[in-house]
Formats: sequence, C-alpha cells, structure tokens
Amino acid sequence: MAIGRVAIVGLGLIGSSVARAVKARLPGVAVAGYDASDAVRVEARALGFCDAVADGAAAAVADADLVVLAVPVGRMADAAAAIAPGLKADAIISDVGSSKAGVAAALAKALPDHAVIPAHPVAGTENSGPAAGFATLFDGRWCIVTPPAGAPQDAVTAVTSFWQALGARVETMDAAHHDMVLAVTSHLPHLIAYTIVGTASELEEVTESEVIKYSAGGFRDFTRIAASDPVMWRDVFLANKDAVLATLQRFNEDLTVLQQAIRRGDGARLEEWFTRTRAIRRSII
Ligand code: NAD
Repeated sequence: MAIGRVAIVGLGLIGSSVARAVKARLPGVAVAGYDASDAVRVEARALGFCDAVADGAAAAVADADLVVLAVPVGRMADAAAAIAPGLKADAIISDVGSSKAGVAAALAKALPDHAVIPAHPVAGTENSGPAAGFATLFDGRWCIVTPPAGAPQDAVTAVTSFWQALGARVETMDAAHHDMVLAVTSHLPHLIAYTIVGTASELEEVTESEVIKYSAGGFRDFTRIAASDPVMWRDVFLANKDAVLATLQRFNEDLTVLQQAIRRGDGARLEEWFTRTRAIRRSII
C-alpha cells in the first residue's frame, strides 16, 4: 500500500522526529500533525516540521494513509478514540510506544475496524518536546514491529517499509516478548538510574554539591537517563508492570549475591562477576 499522507498525533521528541525524518527522507509524503497541548501546537507550527498542524485529532488524520500515535503509552487509548471519527476506512494505525502488549490491546479495542500495527523505534534521548526532535534519530536504530495475530500483511509491509525509509532496521516480534526484552534493556536501567539519584539525594552524610562535584566518578554517566520525561516513564512502568517486576526480581537476586560477596570479602566472586559482565558489556557497540 502506497503511503502518500502521514498523520502524527503527539509532536514531542519522537513524533516531531518522525515528522522531520519523513520530510527529509520521503519528500513526496505530506505530514499532518496534532498535539493535545496548545503550547506544543504553537511551537510545532513555528518549527515547521509538519506541512500542517491541526487543532483537533480527527481533523489531523483526515485523508491520512498512515497514522502514527506518538503520545505517552497511558494516553494511547484516548488518542485512538479521538482520531476514530476522522479516519479513512483503509487508514493504517501505528504507534511508537515503549511498551507494546497493553498499547496493542488498547488500540485494537478503540479501533476495531482498522489495521493496527504497533511499533517501537528503539531510539531516543533523555530530552522531550518538539524542539528536541531531529531527522536522523532513527538512522541505523532498531524499530520493533509487533503485528497482532491475523494482521493484514499489506499493512505490516507498509509499516515496515515506512520505518526502513526513515533509516531504521526493522525486527518483527510478539508484543509480550518485546515487553520482556525492553524491560531488561531499557525499563530496568531507567528505574535503577532514577533510584540512584533518589538515594544520593537522601544520604545524610553526602551533600548535593558533593554529588554534583564528584559525579564524574560514575554518577553522571550512569544517571544520564534519569533526566528523561517523568510522565512518559510513569506510563511505561504502569503499562509494562509484569515484565518489569519479573526482571526487577532477578536484578534484586543478583544484587544480593554481590552484596553478600562484598560483606564476606569474597574478592574471587566479585572479580569473576565483573570479568564476565565486562566481556558482555564490551561486546555491545
Ligand atoms: P514527549 O513528552 O516529548 O511528547 C509526547 C507528546 O504527546 C507531548 O507533546 C504531549 O502534549 C502529547 N500528548 C499527550 N497526550 C496526548 C493526546 N491524548 N493527544 C495528542 N497529544 C498528546 O514524549 P516522547 O519522548 O516523544 O514519547 C512519545 C512516545 O514515544 C511514548 O509513547 C514513548 O513511550 C515513546 N518512545 C519514547 C522514546 C524516548 O526515548 N523518549 C523512545 C522510543 C519511544
């Protein structure tokens, strides 16, 4: 299916990056946008990455061949309900949400008569908002597409081709498996980063200025992602609760092993652990 018109709902970091990437890489494709925030719509118009920014969700998606929902995962159901009256019968609906099983179910429920092909570009930064986006965000990055059982193949192909055209490498995966993979590669690291910042800020013995002054000791690199948007991450943890809790349980077990090794002065255990995990980390580009 040829995609001539794309509508993007949610014009923050990811939505505006999709718009910019379409304009840069698919110059014949028209891009319409909508955001629930008045201020974001004003900013998006000024930045000019969409051909048109509508004042309503249904108006934005009228005539769109592909609609990309780029709102926090807890808002996907609302956004889907809001676009429903404006959709063409053969419009394909996709999204960019960081968790997939719950979002896929919400979109299928809200839009039962449309082809819904969820996707997750595994690309981002700790910044948010329309000014933070850029056209090359998806270059060489994975985009995981999670088609539901029975999804029309032409719609799956259209969404796959769309992300490849934006520069991404596409992998197809079951939504529940996606959520488990991302729980350990993305969600757990964010949770730990947020936790460490909280721990450091509450230590009576160490002042905040000391944390900032000596942050090059690991704190600054390790906690970069704790600057990420709180609403987005609140929704990810609520949406991917089961997979996050399962990986958190395993993390707690491993942390306890290391805690015991430190308490017992078990240098061999620590060295073995760090040697093994350093080799894994060094194999990640
Ligand atoms: P963002 O905060 O930069 O932008 C989200 C935008 O959605 C905001 O401008 C907000 O006003 C708008 N919005 C909220 N509810 C809406 C609604 N009902 N209708 C229309 N607009 C609405 O967030 P972001 O980082 O662009 O994240 C967007 C989505 O992308 C989330 O689902 C997130 O899980 C996913 N994602 C984020 C990253 C990342 O690194 N930030 C990476 C991959 C995927």
